Amino acid sequence: RHGAGEVRVALTAARSGRKLIAVGSGKGGVGKSTLAANLAVALARLGRKVGIIDADIYGPSQPRLLGTSERPEAEDKTLIPVAAQGVRLLSVGQLVPEGQALAWRGPMAAGALNQLVEGQWGDTELIIVDLPPGTGDVQLSLIQKARPAGAVVVSTPQDLALIDATRAIDLFRKTSVPVLGIIENMAGYDCPHCGQPSDPFGSGGAEAAAHELGIPFLGRLPLSASLREASDAGRPPAAGDGPAGRAFRDLAEKLLA
Ligand code: ADP
Repeated sequence: RHGAGEVRVALTAARSGRKLIAVGSGKGGVGKSTLAANLAVALARLGRKVGIIDADIYGPSQPRLLGTSERPEAEDKTLIPVAAQGVRLLSVGQLVPEGQALAWRGPMAAGALNQLVEGQWGDTELIIVDLPPGTGDVQLSLIQKARPAGAVVVSTPQDLALIDATRAIDLFRKTSVPVLGIIENMAGYDCPHCGQPSDPFGSGGAEAAAHELGIPFLGRLPLSASLREASDAGRPPAAGDGPAGRAFRDLAEKLLA
């Protein structure tokens, strides 16, 4: 059963021709938010009008990743996304003071998510949605109300992370959201001192899992201190032309293909 609000959101999305791409993961800490931010910036650099919805109620990190602390204004009770790094952003983190817990039960979280989805997105063509990790309420209500055009799942290479990622993929499949692919993050590490490569979490597991599940493997990113530092400082590497910038552009091109 759908309420009037849900139907309205679905209709608005359909009429605007705007596409939502959900970025999910089986568990936290695998780099889902970092990848979501950088994919959005890379897509914008390819000339798309890109938005990002930060729906990670447990750890809304998009404002920091995109280097903005600006709060969205509201017009007729509709939130106006803030501009940062060439993308438009609405985050659950912007709805409460920084550092305050989002101790929301399902309906509250769903209400907040609605506000973000129904923001004034204008001529935005693509909206990346940074989901909370796992397969809970927020994921389900986004899938039901906003009908994402596709989903990307981020995983680190080790078996335990991949088992969780498989659950996230299963949720999208069961709800008929096309899985656009899996990205392997933190795969391999080049020692900055001796240059010797090593694989703290292994490597290649996500690619094997993608083959097994019959979904595309979009690519892998190494564990990188400079990526972490730039992300913490609100300078998404996708905005630059270094190795990480090129890697994110490749991923963005694959997503558009
Ligand atoms: P999630 O959204 O899955 O919880 P985050 O994107 O918040 O994960 O990333 C968790 C931490 O790992 C952050 O400090 C981030 O900067 C760091 N991180 C993510 N990807 C990489 C990487 N490839 N190399 C180094 N650090 C990374």
